[in-house]
Amino acid sequence: MKKVSVLIPCYNEEASLPLLYTELAKVMDSCQSYDWEVLFINDGSRDNTLSVIKDLRQMDVRISYVDLSRNFGKENAMLAGFDYVTGDCMVIMDADLQDPPSLILDMLKYWEEGYEDVYAKRNNRGKETWLRRSFSLLFYNILKHSSRFDVLPNVGDFRLLDRSCIEALKKLRENERYTKGMFCWIGFKKKEIIFNRGDRVVGKSNWNYWSLFNLAIEGITSFTTTPLRISTISGILIAFLSLALMLFYFFKAVIWGDPIQGFPTLVVLILFLGGIQLLSIGILGEYLVRVFNESKHRPVYIVREYNGKKESF
Ligand code: UDP
Ligand code: MG
Repeated sequence: MKKVSVLIPCYNEEASLPLLYTELAKVMDSCQSYDWEVLFINDGSRDNTLSVIKDLRQMDVRISYVDLSRNFGKENAMLAGFDYVTGDCMVIMDADLQDPPSLILDMLKYWEEGYEDVYAKRNNRGKETWLRRSFSLLFYNILKHSSRFDVLPNVGDFRLLDRSCIEALKKLRENERYTKGMFCWIGFKKKEIIFNRGDRVVGKSNWNYWSLFNLAIEGITSFTTTPLRISTISGILIAFLSLALMLFYFFKAVIWGDPIQGFPTLVVLILFLGGIQLLSIGILGEYLVRVFNESKHRPVYIVREYNGKKESF
């Protein structure tokens, strides 16, 4: 019998887990032709998430868990999941029921047809502010126009991946992670299904503008070097422009003389160039930071406990 794993990263989800379990159990019970595994990754929750998971495990043998030693963030928690799932395929979903478990059955259908990555695309983005939506669109546009493969907009981590995809993803062990891009980067046969993303049932989103901004920078810097190219190109353009300007001022001075003027121009030019330089150094720094972090070769996550068994490090 084929085994289906459901991977659920959890951070402070004590309230949503029982609801999620009821929904998941319905799906699993309705589809007995597969072996099921539900793998919770407890990403250093500060509430009782772990004991809720342990209680569920007492009730249902299909439940497993990995307890991380602290909060590593969803991206890292997902890699822990890739390493520990045992199924022939894996469905990644959020703990807050924003991803409807009933969709898993549709995904399995396509998987049986031979698709290796069945991703759910939301046709709405739930209750979201206009500002957040526009930033998100801008981000996808930047990525789309600057990388060799498409990072799909409105597609989250909710998807079914075949074992071959899981093995591929396990090889991508960078510390600065942008998993959404990795799903596209690894390729494989993809299939899209559309769904309505609901709002969180309980609790509140762990993302704020700052963390989303950081994720966007992560996404851009880990999948494209176009910003570096842009700063090079603007450097060249400005250099040529200033050369032309120099010649112009020189001949102007020779022909018409040079009454001392042009103070505003000078200030504007200095500020403009200073700005461009700082921006370019900043961009350079972003990439350098990543080289620095990767060169430390630290593990992406640390496990305290797997299914009650202590991991030794
Ligand atoms: N999550 C996590 N670690 C974190 C933050 C979030 O494992 O540091 C999990 C969280 O428990 C949930 C999923 O990632 O299952 C998505 O989080 P959230 O609902 O806050 O994000 P959103 O739905 O707003 O994108
Ligand atoms: Mg959510």
